[in-house]
Amino acid sequence: MMQRLIQFIKTFSLWELVSGLKLTGRYLFSRKITVQYPEEKTPTSPRFRGIHALRRYPNGEERCIACKLCEAVCPALAITIEAEPRFDGSRRTTLYEIDLFKCVYCGFCEESCPVDSIVLTRFHDYHMEHRGENILTKEKLLAIGDRYETEIAADRATDARYR
Ligand code: SF4
Ligand code: SF4
Repeated sequence: MMQRLIQFIKTFSLWELVSGLKLTGRYLFSRKITVQYPEEKTPTSPRFRGIHALRRYPNGEERCIACKLCEAVCPALAITIEAEPRFDGSRRTTLYEIDLFKCVYCGFCEESCPVDSIVLTRFHDYHMEHRGENILTKEKLLAIGDRYETEIAADRATDARYR
């Protein structure tokens, strides 16, 4: 009987509404945690595994020596490499492609690379608009590496695995 009376009073005093407004009021004046993306971004780890890049040495020479370790270790078979000797006798890739639709961002390619060539950058806000853009060609990968080399090098400098 008492229970029903309490329920009756709560119904006519709009108790649930008042409780809800109390909660709303509490968050109205508390510190805001909403991030205004893309102007604001949350911090990411230097080890974040975002879009791939191929790096160059400071003299502009591409690091990749076409050893194909990354292709062999990739569990998703996302990497395709073709290689042949260059005019100066050094071994270089003639084709290096990563299929982003297959990639699972495990980072094994990065871990296996003996010359720190293929890396996963911490840049993740990319998109595709046309069929075929899921294939990252060697030219695109080198361009990404060129664009973000400063950040990639800084991340490597703070990572104990690369010291
Ligand atoms: S991150 Fe993993 S799945 Fe993606 S290309 Fe590298 S090895 Fe393959
Ligand atoms: S990116 Fe690294 S692991 Fe892959 S083929 Fe080139 S040198 Fe070898």
